[in-house]
Amino acid sequence: MPAVPTPTTQRAQELRAQLSRAQHEYYVLDTPSLSDQDYDRLFRELQDIESAYPDLRSEDSPTLRVGAPIQSTFGTHRHLVRMMSLDNAFDDAELNEFERSIERVVGDAVHKSGYTAELKIDGAAIAITYRDGLLVTAATRGDGTEGENVTANVRTIRGVPLRLHGEGHPPLMEIRGEVYLPFSGFERMNEVRVAAGEPVYVNPRNAAAGSMRQLDPSITAQRPLRFFGYAAVLPDGTAPARTQWELLELLSSWGIPVAPHRLLCSTMAEACAWAHTVEHETRAQLGFAIDGGVIKVNAVSVQDELGVRNDRTPRWAIARKFAPDMAVTKLERIDVNVGRTGVLTPFAVLDPVDVGGAKVTFASLHNADQIAAKDLREGDMVQVVRAGDVIPYVLGPVPEKRTGAEVPWKMPEFCPRCDTKVVREGDDVATYCPNVACPGRLLEGLVHFSSKDALNIDGLSYARIQQLLAAGYVQDSADLFRVTVEQLVALERFGQKSAESLVQAIQAAKQQPLSRLLFALGIRHVGAQAAQLLARQYGTLDALMAATPEQLAQVRGIGDIIAQSVADYFATDSVRQLMEKMRGLGLRFDEPNAVQSDGPFTGSTVVLTGTLPTLSRGEATALVERAGGRVTSSVSKKTTFVVAGEEAGSKLDKAKELGVEVIDEAELIRRAGA
Ligand code: NAD
Repeated sequence: MPAVPTPTTQRAQELRAQLSRAQHEYYVLDTPSLSDQDYDRLFRELQDIESAYPDLRSEDSPTLRVGAPIQSTFGTHRHLVRMMSLDNAFDDAELNEFERSIERVVGDAVHKSGYTAELKIDGAAIAITYRDGLLVTAATRGDGTEGENVTANVRTIRGVPLRLHGEGHPPLMEIRGEVYLPFSGFERMNEVRVAAGEPVYVNPRNAAAGSMRQLDPSITAQRPLRFFGYAAVLPDGTAPARTQWELLELLSSWGIPVAPHRLLCSTMAEACAWAHTVEHETRAQLGFAIDGGVIKVNAVSVQDELGVRNDRTPRWAIARKFAPDMAVTKLERIDVNVGRTGVLTPFAVLDPVDVGGAKVTFASLHNADQIAAKDLREGDMVQVVRAGDVIPYVLGPVPEKRTGAEVPWKMPEFCPRCDTKVVREGDDVATYCPNVACPGRLLEGLVHFSSKDALNIDGLSYARIQQLLAAGYVQDSADLFRVTVEQLVALERFGQKSAESLVQAIQAAKQQPLSRLLFALGIRHVGAQAAQLLARQYGTLDALMAATPEQLAQVRGIGDIIAQSVADYFATDSVRQLMEKMRGLGLRFDEPNAVQSDGPFTGSTVVLTGTLPTLSRGEATALVERAGGRVTSSVSKKTTFVVAGEEAGSKLDKAKELGVEVIDEAELIRRAGA
């Protein structure tokens, strides 16, 4: 046996102390100060030293321990069979090495068995005991042999069946799995904690573990915890199935939630490929955190032959760890972006960090309220995730890491792009720049202006808008209509033909109806539907601009907020100038399908029923509305008349009962004067 160099002995001691401390922080206090990668790296280093110098191995080494000793607050529970940890593989080579280590023991049998690949849920391990299908106890993993009795807490988790579905359950069985918090729930929970002045949880795993160890189950019940099962053991240590795959199906048939995206693999190469897909594609779409995949030998008989290493990890399963999709980094500062409607969106400028395989420098912070709720300060160490979507997101600060130099943040009072005083009204969470000519709004505004549902200008891509702005051809949306073919051909990537067709598309957009123009202008709160309602009601831009907020709010489907927003918009000087400029350029300011203000149906309420001979329901509704009427769905005394088609049912009966006039389609068309 090699003599142990002194520095190695010292290093081993150091590592043991550091890892023991980290285990306590992680498993007992739920507030880790090391990242999982740092922990895993140090753990590997100690494992390597101990395998090179077995003399250095000590009984109490963290490498031989599962979890951590339990705290005495809860009662203890002895597991039917010891709960394990898992060895880690960090890449394909280590997975292949894992396969070779299995082949050395069981030879070819492993190839006949194949593997299962399952998501490795980043939560807290729980064992739930079922007696004749009834939940009797639930316990944390603890040190593997004994855990804390958290039955009352586990009973509050939606998705954990208190009685298993189906029949023929083993008389006594432990179902094992992971309690976790979906990202959405984690977010909400931390917001509540911040509001109550409590420290935030560092990540969903710690939040789940902390929630399990709540002394008051009514608090646990308020947390949106979930559960996925992955194993079941009987008192003699056997499994109630012949393969892991069958076991997962069995669990599922008993009503136990089983994690999605699992795969039955016949070769390790398939398992490697699965891990790549999960890490780089699937993971970003999951609503919960995973820290890897678990590859298990499928056949239980082969698992039994392989057994356990060091009483700590099974030889037949391995965790394939992924790059973290959550990282801690420094929030250098908070900047503000100005969107097309002028809304100011704060975003984080981060010390670049790798999150789930992508470098992240910026992350959205949504609005000032969220920043305040999370108590985010410039200079904070923050947790960043890429979850559900590709847009990175700042979960919250790590208050323990504060030095005192962090600076609380406030929304600027003046627009960072044009220096106009910003506006925030009432309960609205958004702050915005009211200047329509704000350069920050312009690019985003033009993108929207020319988009499909707005003026639908074919060929005016984001890159081209950027070109037009950079060339100084366009200072507001009206300037677009002044762009000439000569100007365009002078720009890069424009030929005579593409320049001509773009100018043509822009000119054609002048003929779009008022409803599209209204939507294109990007008035706050005015979507395509509101724009249509307003355009159809008022018919011309001039009429609309002359309306008071009270009058606008009279339009069916238009609420006070939209009405006020429209009135404020058109009351702004820069907007009025922009409209005059557009008028001068020949834009169409009217709506062809406008409602007649003193039409034949003005003031009438009409009900349609049954199938009309030629008009669809939508066409008939449009006809009534154009003529000034209103279509409602139920017949009352206030109904002016009912239009009945074939197979008219109860509405027709009701009309007769109330003595409301009933007409047919032909009469409707005649009266509408269409
Ligand atoms: P582990 O998390 O690496 O893996 C074992 C656990 O994975 C099981 O007990 C089980 O709860 C869970 N698991 C999830 N999905 C599973 C599935 N489909 N099949 C089987 N098991 C599944 O092991 P561990 O012993 O809990 O912890 C070790 C890891 O914890 C380290 O690698 C490190 O990442 C982290 N840790 C971090 C710190 C720190 O300070 N940051 C400290 C201690 C531990």
